[in-house]
Amino acid sequence: MEKVVCTFCGSVCDDVEFDPNTFSARKFCALGKSKFSKKERIKSPMINGKEVSYEEAIEKAVEILVNSKRPLLYGWASTVNEAIRAGVILAEKVGGVYDQCSSVCHGPGTLALIEEGIPGGTLGTIKNRADVVIFWGCNPMEAHPRHATRYSVMAKGFLIKDRKDRKVIVVDVRETRSAKLADIFVQVKPGYDYAVFSALRMIVKGEDIDIDEVGGVSRDKLYEVAEIMMNAKYGAILYGLGLTQSRGRDRNVENAIKLVQQLNRKTRWIIWPMRGHYNVVGAGEVPTWEVGYQYAIDFSRGYPRFSPSEFSAVEVLKRRDCDSALIVASDPVAHFPKKAVEHLKRIPVIQIDPFPNMTTLVADVVIPSAITGIEAEGTAYRMDGIPLRVKKIIDTEYWSDEKILTEMLKIIDKR
Ligand code: SF4
Repeated sequence: MEKVVCTFCGSVCDDVEFDPNTFSARKFCALGKSKFSKKERIKSPMINGKEVSYEEAIEKAVEILVNSKRPLLYGWASTVNEAIRAGVILAEKVGGVYDQCSSVCHGPGTLALIEEGIPGGTLGTIKNRADVVIFWGCNPMEAHPRHATRYSVMAKGFLIKDRKDRKVIVVDVRETRSAKLADIFVQVKPGYDYAVFSALRMIVKGEDIDIDEVGGVSRDKLYEVAEIMMNAKYGAILYGLGLTQSRGRDRNVENAIKLVQQLNRKTRWIIWPMRGHYNVVGAGEVPTWEVGYQYAIDFSRGYPRFSPSEFSAVEVLKRRDCDSALIVASDPVAHFPKKAVEHLKRIPVIQIDPFPNMTTLVADVVIPSAITGIEAEGTAYRMDGIPLRVKKIIDTEYWSDEKILTEMLKIIDKR
């Protein structure tokens, strides 16, 4: 057994073990195990279904991109920072649009952070210090199965010796599996999170709520939760797509941050998003180092412009505002709205991915890649922004995402 780093979800567990000879895995959750198992792969590079060499497929991909007026370069959340960096440079060189999976998940939260900043902390501080943890609009038991034992609910740390030392509250529109782990479950009416944050802010500020309920939550429950928040020594709100993709979106997160700012006048609180794919943080951080923005970046004028309502992948596709697409480590055909997928079917699509998926069915050029964390190495940011080195433990004939994209850049530079 070798110690490896799991490259499935944003928890990026670095205590898991894997035997490359027998493919047996230890300590992984079911999601991680599914990636670290023998799965169907894309066998060879292909152009229009015909098997070709890597060199031929890469040459064809470059030809498509440089002959496009505005290519879309989308995906990036399930690959390493080194590949993402090459992707951002590629987007700039071909005058395309760089967008990543955040634009359909935590992107609105990013807008709130731009407005308000974020009082944040690491998963380590939560594990060691947090005596109150609130999961708001997220379901870690299904999406990040080891989060509860490694970092939050049951995790033991320097100051938290036992589950009894920590109060866990789940706020959601329905009783999820995570709600069953909680000491208190608060059910909010769909679309009313903003109002509930406002009510909590009022109570923390010392004002009175003179109605019986807010957003489906009773006045008594609101006071109970506010009291727990104010009496915490170190509290953490961990939020999910229940906030960023429901009515209010970025304004929900902004209001949550304002609540945390209010609480920090009395005690210590942090707030942090529960990021999904293992390096979706890198897919935002790397373009930020490179060009200043996290997602929805257009280079068609020769300089970067950021406009989520205009340059996010779904909007660009729905407007038919791109004439080719490079999809890396993602499956937009399975997840995007029908109108966006219809345009993907019309334009030349290049796919780079280890595994076949729905996007493979519409791709003109398919380039298989090595699985990062098993066959390729690199750096990934865990959901709390901590960089972790992802290992290569098996030699393979598949090229890494980084190598494929770097070769594409070399060809463009020679032209
Ligand atoms: S919780 Fe996430 S990172 Fe950890 S083993 Fe499961 S899928 Fe992998």
